[in-house]
Amino acid sequence: MTLNPEETAMVEAVRDFVDREVRPVARDLEHANTYPADLIDQMKRMGVYGLAIPEPYGDVRVSTPCYALITEELARGWMSLAGAMGGHTVVAKLILTYGTPEQKERYLPRMATGELRATMALTEPGGGSDLQGMRTVARREADGDGYVVDGTKTWISNARTSGLIALLCKTDPEAVPRHRGISVLLVEKVPGVTVTTDLPKLGYKGVESCEVVFEGARVPADAVLGGREGAGFAQMMRGLEIGRIQVAARATGVARAAFDDALAYARQRETFGRPIWQHQSVGNHLADMAAKLTAARQLLLHAAERYDSGARSDLEAGMAKLFCSEAAMEIALNAIRVHGGYGYSTEFDVERYFRDAPLMIVGEGTNEIQRNVIARQLVERGGLAY
Ligand SMILES: Cc1cc2nc3c(=O)[nH]c(=O)nc-3n(C[C@H](O)[C@H](O)[C@H](O)COP(=O)(O)OP(=O)(O)OC[C@H]3O[C@@H](n4cnc5c(N)ncnc54)[C@H](O)[C@@H]3O)c2cc1C
Repeated sequence: MTLNPEETAMVEAVRDFVDREVRPVARDLEHANTYPADLIDQMKRMGVYGLAIPEPYGDVRVSTPCYALITEELARGWMSLAGAMGGHTVVAKLILTYGTPEQKERYLPRMATGELRATMALTEPGGGSDLQGMRTVARREADGDGYVVDGTKTWISNARTSGLIALLCKTDPEAVPRHRGISVLLVEKVPGVTVTTDLPKLGYKGVESCEVVFEGARVPADAVLGGREGAGFAQMMRGLEIGRIQVAARATGVARAAFDDALAYARQRETFGRPIWQHQSVGNHLADMAAKLTAARQLLLHAAERYDSGARSDLEAGMAKLFCSEAAMEIALNAIRVHGGYGYSTEFDVERYFRDAPLMIVGEGTNEIQRNVIARQLVERGGLAY
């Protein structure tokens, strides 16, 4: 994997930003559950919200490996920051790939600067894995050319701070097969769209995850992504490939932070007259953590390269998301072990990594669902390509 010089400089700039601006304040922001407005503004100025948006709409589009490494850096500082730009990228890619010229013109320039932020709404209170069973419906207006949307979405990240929602909903609830009745609507915060609740959660603090209610919300007909009713499920599944690469990158960032902290602590903490890394059990933990982390990064970059080839990459993105998130959970737990009692203290960062890691196991499709996707693709493709 090679980045061009501009991409390398961009990753380094984000790394510096994380070391200088993020790591010193992340613990306090996390425990106060404070929205990181200043950091988000700096991310906008650095072009982070436009990483997936090319000219003429934006000006810092980067390759997917570069995007993954930037996401990893942000998550290394504070996973919440990487979460604040994940769904936005998926929506940008959806509009770029499937949007009409008018939709691209309307949204992408403002999304590239971060002036307009976007999120995606798939999950409902009744279920997130069985998306085709969703209940949110957009009905054609009898006397107009728009839709009226009713339903409830939940766990929607950045719902309050986003001005645009890529809403997965049914435009034909009777369709058989069910996915043919599903569309993506690009919904702005029109009357009838209400962010009702900020959900309390284990980690991923500072950034909101909300319930969003649609009650008689009137949406124009040209809000259908690409103008193609019934194509939304396939569009969103392709969108989730970049989403899962992003989640894998977030997990890798958390794993990296946990490993770095554990290694530093093991070199400095002494018991029985020597640094604890010299005790074989602790050294073994460090060795296993380093091996898992390195493997995770390779799988992440493999998926990112595959994505850029234009080929279907749900197998690769699924494997990266599955492996990186499970590795992050294991590495975060081992970082706690290496820190002993201090690993359990809120005055250290490792407890945060341990609380953040499970999100990457559950979000963007659970790891059980990833395994289903991977197995299906393995059979369809006749195995792995070597
Ligand atoms: C902090 C946070 C942020 C989120 N952000 C967003 C967001 O921005 N937008 C959005 O749309 N969603 C978001 N989600 C929702 C997330 O994608 C869902 O929680 C996830 O897809 C699982 O759906 P569920 O919670 O309804 O679980 P369920 O679908 O009810 O699943 C429950 C359990 O059953 C298992 N299971 C279900 N079906 C199968 C099957 N066929 N095979 C094997 N196992 C199965 C699951 O793996 C899981 O273990 C977020 C979630 C969290 C926690």
